[in-house]
Amino acid sequence: MLKHIITPVQSWLLAHHQCVGCGRPLGLARTDQKGGKTRVFCACGRIFIKEKNTYRRALFEEI
Ligand SMILES: [Zn+2]
Repeated sequence: MLKHIITPVQSWLLAHHQCVGCGRPLGLARTDQKGGKTRVFCACGRIFIKEKNTYRRALFEEI
């Protein structure tokens, strides 16, 4: 299963700053800094990277 493929629905959710898994607003999620990047930890366990004012899924090496 190609879990790392971003579907159009996931892209839409991220564009609206919502988790691709559970739809929670990422603006409410816990964050921390690592290597100059802002990691966003959704309550469902998914991890994202916040870049400027956008979000994307964290790469394996960023987790
Ligand atoms: Zn989530």
